[in-house]
Amino acid sequence: NISLSPLAMCFHYGQTVFEGLKAFRTRDGQINIFRLESHWKRMNRSLERMAMPPLPASCFINGIRDLIDKESQWVIDDPEYSLYIRPFAIATENKLGVDASHDYLFMVILSPLKAYYNKPLRVKVETNYIRSAKGGAGAAKNGGNYGASLLPQQKAKQEGFDQIIWLDAKEKKYIEESGTMNIMFIINGKTLLTPALSDSILDGITRDSILKLAPEMDLKVEERTIPITEILEKIQSGDQVEAFGVGTAAVISPIKEISYKGNLYGTYIQDDAGMYRIKNKLSEIRRGTVPDRFGWSDL
Ligand SMILES: *Cc1c(COP(=O)(O)O)cnc(C)c1O
Repeated sequence: NISLSPLAMCFHYGQTVFEGLKAFRTRDGQINIFRLESHWKRMNRSLERMAMPPLPASCFINGIRDLIDKESQWVIDDPEYSLYIRPFAIATENKLGVDASHDYLFMVILSPLKAYYNKPLRVKVETNYIRSAKGGAGAAKNGGNYGASLLPQQKAKQEGFDQIIWLDAKEKKYIEESGTMNIMFIINGKTLLTPALSDSILDGITRDSILKLAPEMDLKVEERTIPITEILEKIQSGDQVEAFGVGTAAVISPIKEISYKGNLYGTYIQDDAGMYRIKNKLSEIRRGTVPDRFGWSDL
């Protein structure tokens, strides 16, 4: 536990930033902290957006390496397990009045995780609430983004959906993300389609990894604006459309049904779907059972 004054600015003005990454036990017994440097860089981009000072590599990178070295027994030697790492920073100056804090606290939580089967999701395209807008802070892993998403998420649950697909704030036409994951589609087993990054979409490291692996898996990548109606029309015209969320926690979350303005659309989720091949490929790299050509492993 930590002790803070009720005046600590994180309680009032929302200067909080977090990261989420994982460490894996490789086949030969080493520990691999997956894409540690990328997470450090993204943490600093989030901090910058929230007017918080950057963390030096000696603090974030070496700090996490040292911590995991000390707690290495928690990186369980079983391919079912990983160690989830949650670094975060909060404003701690004691002051009333909206301003950037002068004091901050950086902490890291570790928690072993067992891989869970992610059952295919029913998702609702949200046409009322938005997650983030151009010029906003949606590209930062800042606490406020998640607080604002809880009510729409609760309402979707009450309507029988597992998750939300967010549309752009201005026109409510273009796909942005799914819940707290990036979203991808595979069309007819050939084309991997995902919204292009912008300041309203979080730059996911799982997203980036998959885009880099796609060419060697014979998938053609398209990063662009994607109207929701384009995807629904493809489903209706009989194209094989896979839809899935991508993120560190679950790697990929298959979507089985999309609801848009009261109509339901079924996607392709058979066992031979390309998204499962992608998931296996990523897990092989992280476990060190295939060569890591991208320098993603921090051993
Ligand atoms: C963290 C996060 C993601 C996924 O990022 P990863 O680096 O792949 O875990 C996607 N969208 C949002 C809103 C997120 O917070």
